[in-house]
Amino acid sequence: ETMIQIKDVTKTFVGKDNAVEALKGINLEIHRGEIYGIIGMSGAGKSTLVRCLNFLERPSSGTVLVEGKDLSTLRDSELRKMRTRIAMIFQHFNLLMQRTVIDNVCFPMEIIKMPKKDALERARELLDIVGLSEKEKAYPAQLSGGQKQRVAIARALATNPQILLCDEATSALDPTTTKAILALLKEINEKYGITIVIITHEMTVVQEICTHVAIIDEGNLAETGTVGEVFQRP
Ligand code: ADP
Ligand code: ADP
Repeated sequence: ETMIQIKDVTKTFVGKDNAVEALKGINLEIHRGEIYGIIGMSGAGKSTLVRCLNFLERPSSGTVLVEGKDLSTLRDSELRKMRTRIAMIFQHFNLLMQRTVIDNVCFPMEIIKMPKKDALERARELLDIVGLSEKEKAYPAQLSGGQKQRVAIARALATNPQILLCDEATSALDPTTTKAILALLKEINEKYGITIVIITHEMTVVQEICTHVAIIDEGNLAETGTVGEVFQRP
C-alpha cells in the first residue's frame, strides 16, 4: 500500500539576485510499514523534500500524494487533519522549554482539543512506551539529549500518526544514544506499523534500521532501492 508518492517534484527558492534549485525533479514512492532512509550531503535538498511531505513547503511543480491525497488540493480543515497523521521529529528536538515533559507530550492533543484527562492518560502511556515515565514532571533543560528526543517521539505519536518524519533526529546524539533511539524507532515501526522516513547524512543510521534508501545529491535522486540493493556488499 502506497503511503507517500512524490511525482516530478521541483522546488526553487528565488532570492533577490539568485535562485537555488533545491529539488530538480524527484520521483519516490514509500509504502506502509517501510523505514525509508533519505541520505545525502549537507545542502542536497533533504530538508526541503521532507518539508514538502509535511506541507511546510509547497513544491514549485509536481505533486505530493500522502495516503492518496494531493496535498495542494486540500482545504484547510482537511490539511489540519492530514497534519495529525504525519508527525515529525527534529535534530534539536524542538521541545517547549517552559513546559514539563508531560505537558510537552500533551501539547498536540490540546491543539486537537482532546479532553485534558484523556490527554494526560495517553501522554502517560506514551512516556511509558519511550521509557521516560519517571521524568514526567521534569523540564526539558533537565534532560539529556537522548531523553529529549524520547519526549519528542512521545509527543510526535500523540495524535496516532501513520507516518513519522525524522529530520536528522540522531545527528546531535552520541553513537550509543543514537543506537538506543534507532532501536526505539524500530520498535515503534514494528509494534504500531507506523511508516518512518529518516533524513540523515549518516550512512550508519541507514544501515542500522532502514529497509529502503534513496540517495539525494544536489536536488536529484541518485539511487533508490532496498538497503541491500543500494549498499551491496562485495
Ligand atoms: P539538506 O537538508 O540536504 O542539507 P536543504 O533542503 O536544507 O538541504 O537545502 C537544499 C538547498 O536549498 C541548499 O542550497 C539551501 O541553501 C537551499 N534552501 C533551503 N531552504 C531555503 C530557503 N528557505 N530559502 C532559500 N534557499 C533555501
Ligand atoms: P537543516 O540543518 O535541517 O538542513 P538548515 O539549518 O539548513 O536546516 O535550515 C534551517 C532553516 O533555514 C530551514 O527552514 C530552511 O528552509 C532554511 N534555510 C536553509 N537554507 C537557507 C537559505 N540559503 N536561505 C534561507 N533559508 C534557508
